Amino acid sequence: MAVKVDIERCTGCGLCVKACPYGAVTVQDRKAVMSDRCTSCGACLAACPTEALASDLPPRVEVDPSQYRDVWVIAEHREGRLHRTSLELLGCARKLAEGPGHQVAVLLMGQHVSGLAAPLIAGGADTVFLAEADHLDRYQTLPYSRVVADLVRDHRPAILLCGATFQGRDLAPRLARRLDLGLTADCTGLEIGPDGHLYQTRPAFGGNVMATIVSPYARPQMATVRPGIMEALVPDPARKGEIVQIRAEAHPGDLLIRLIRETKAERDRVDFHKARIIVAGGRGVGGPEGFNLLRDLAQAMGAELGGTRVVVEEGWLPYERQIGQTGQSVRPEVYIACGLSGAIQHRAGILDSRYIVAINRDPDAPIHQVADFRLVGDLHKVVPALTRLVRERTGSTTEA
Ligand SMILES: Cc1cc2nc3c(=O)[nH]c(=O)nc-3n(C[C@H](O)[C@H](O)[C@H](O)COP(=O)(O)OP(=O)(O)OC[C@H]3O[C@@H](n4cnc5c(N)ncnc54)[C@H](O)[C@@H]3O)c2cc1C
Repeated sequence: MAVKVDIERCTGCGLCVKACPYGAVTVQDRKAVMSDRCTSCGACLAACPTEALASDLPPRVEVDPSQYRDVWVIAEHREGRLHRTSLELLGCARKLAEGPGHQVAVLLMGQHVSGLAAPLIAGGADTVFLAEADHLDRYQTLPYSRVVADLVRDHRPAILLCGATFQGRDLAPRLARRLDLGLTADCTGLEIGPDGHLYQTRPAFGGNVMATIVSPYARPQMATVRPGIMEALVPDPARKGEIVQIRAEAHPGDLLIRLIRETKAERDRVDFHKARIIVAGGRGVGGPEGFNLLRDLAQAMGAELGGTRVVVEEGWLPYERQIGQTGQSVRPEVYIACGLSGAIQHRAGILDSRYIVAINRDPDAPIHQVADFRLVGDLHKVVPALTRLVRERTGSTTEA
């Protein structure tokens, strides 16, 4: 318990009881009493009119935001190729940098990765901090966080972005701890607010609300961003940027993991990112056989096949094809939603689609509210009719 009550000063007015969001304070014998539910949030301190409450936590150190500039992105690569999230983050970073006149920098770590600096500059980076060393060849938490933390301390960026990928989800919390920062994980929206702070939006409470989070007291403001949400810029090979070589020393204490062997998991590779059209199904498809209708339509249109969490849980489609908050986010030209209700967690992954077509027999299904084209009817009739139409129009005769 970190809030103490000065019995002499406390009048038992109870304002602290009202102010406490955790129900940690009671008044007994006209004196405030703290329970172990107290989180030291400080709400009661501000409410107490007699200054009878004191926290034994060290006072918060507030930074001067004017001392922090620029938007930084941590780049990721696999097998010599940039992870697409790095370019999406760069697109986002450029927009964030525009208003305050920030520069955009990328941290590129690895071994023999200097060839990736040019595409990063073409994708929007003004500066690439390039740290190449044997011990950075494969991602490891401690050596990578050391490089980033040292650079951040030296250069003081205002914003630091990582992909909400396996790597980013591992690295970002470690950095937050090392640098004593807040971290907003898995953001789906970022913008600079009127007060100059970064407004970081992410689904919360199981995706039932979108929460916008601000870190006014810490710099840099750090967020991980969901892959597939932000838009990469059209690469401009004529863009000019600076490459700054960074010396990254190996620290024996960081090298706790030795890679002995790498085995690739067999996975159904689904590249929703490249798909111009996606045909997705939900519970209303009725079972794995029902998906054959959707497969026919997808094949006729040259589309990818996806589905809701329900169909993945039912085993009708593999997880790689799940779309939504806990699956993949997609942004095709056309998203054809068949027999799915459009729950908020599903919609969170499709709202950047250019056109949404809903096929649902319930005219009140939520998916119709976000659809550009609404087809109210039984998908078992509508989908084959649509497939026939597409085949007639395109001259395609291929049957699945
Ligand atoms: C933390 C959390 C994360 C989640 N993440 C995801 C996620 O990433 N992706 C996701 O999809 N869900 C996710 N969910 C689940 C989500 O809340 C919904 O339960 C799910 O999306 C519903 O799937 P559905 O639309 O297939 O099924 P339902 O909600 O049951 O909808 C079925 C729809 O099919 C229609 N229908 C039925 N028969 C026919 C027919 N013959 N013809 C036409 N229409 C028909 C019905 O009218 C109905 O609207 C998550 C939930 C939680 C709590």
